[in-house]
Amino acid sequence: MVFLSAVIVGCSHNKSNETKSPSNKTYQNNVISQSANDNEFIEPPVSSRGPALDILPNEHDCNGSIRLYVSKLSDDQLHSVCADLDDTRLIFHDTLGTNYEPVKGDQNEKVNIYIFDGYKHYIDNVEKISGLSTNPKGGFFYEGNPFDAKHQPSIYLFVSSASGFSVWNLKHEFSHYLNARFVKYGHVNDSALYLFWEEGLAEYIAKGADNPQAISLLKSPKLRTLADIFDVTYKDTSEEVYLWSYLGIRYIVENHPTSLVDIVSALRLDSHERFKETLETLASSQEEHFQNWLKELSEN
Ligand SMILES: [Zn+2]
Repeated sequence: MVFLSAVIVGCSHNKSNETKSPSNKTYQNNVISQSANDNEFIEPPVSSRGPALDILPNEHDCNGSIRLYVSKLSDDQLHSVCADLDDTRLIFHDTLGTNYEPVKGDQNEKVNIYIFDGYKHYIDNVEKISGLSTNPKGGFFYEGNPFDAKHQPSIYLFVSSASGFSVWNLKHEFSHYLNARFVKYGHVNDSALYLFWEEGLAEYIAKGADNPQAISLLKSPKLRTLADIFDVTYKDTSEEVYLWSYLGIRYIVENHPTSLVDIVSALRLDSHERFKETLETLASSQEEHFQNWLKELSEN
């Protein structure tokens, strides 16, 4: 399914506990208990996005194509954000073999990233800048119109309250932008099978092999099958949307490079049939291998 109007990819895996303790433990507990219902792709209202004005008055360019809008960040912090974005870009293209070629017709060369001073600053002000009535609580990616350079994509984020400086979900949300520009033809969406790709890939690009929350799932007596993972929807839990999708993507990347090439090719060509066939073939022929891989992962 292709949405005719722009949609957003929201991510709430942290939510309001960001205002308390953003430790890994809190994050993990939150992921496990939280419903993912507010992560839905949303067709935004017609209202236009407002300017950053006095909320995020300072601008900074990262390598020409990324414009940051911030309030209080120091030069060192700005450089740290740009370096993280550069790293994410390298990992993304290396993993997916895109040759840095955007999908046909994509005009979203530039992306605006709005970084609020903290979770409260984000909650209090994001709507004024995004112009959207619904703004997912963990930050989000808004695609704009990929076929119209006048409607640039945007990412809305906030500085984490964890010790040391970091921007919550920076790599994850930037991966959504890269997927929208370099892999997924047309608008991103949450159609059948595709949500698994969208959120699992963003988690994998952001975290690589370092995702203890996902590994902790493997102690559960009931492990998901590949078919379960591919069928995830935003009605499922955050654990299923983010962590199990991550495991599914990681399995494909590490074990089935030919299938990965097929998937990327199908998405770039907007061939849902080929995308579906590739996933169905994996689910029907590799389930035993997948379960053995999960077992090895849990023992390492
Ligand atoms: Zn996401």
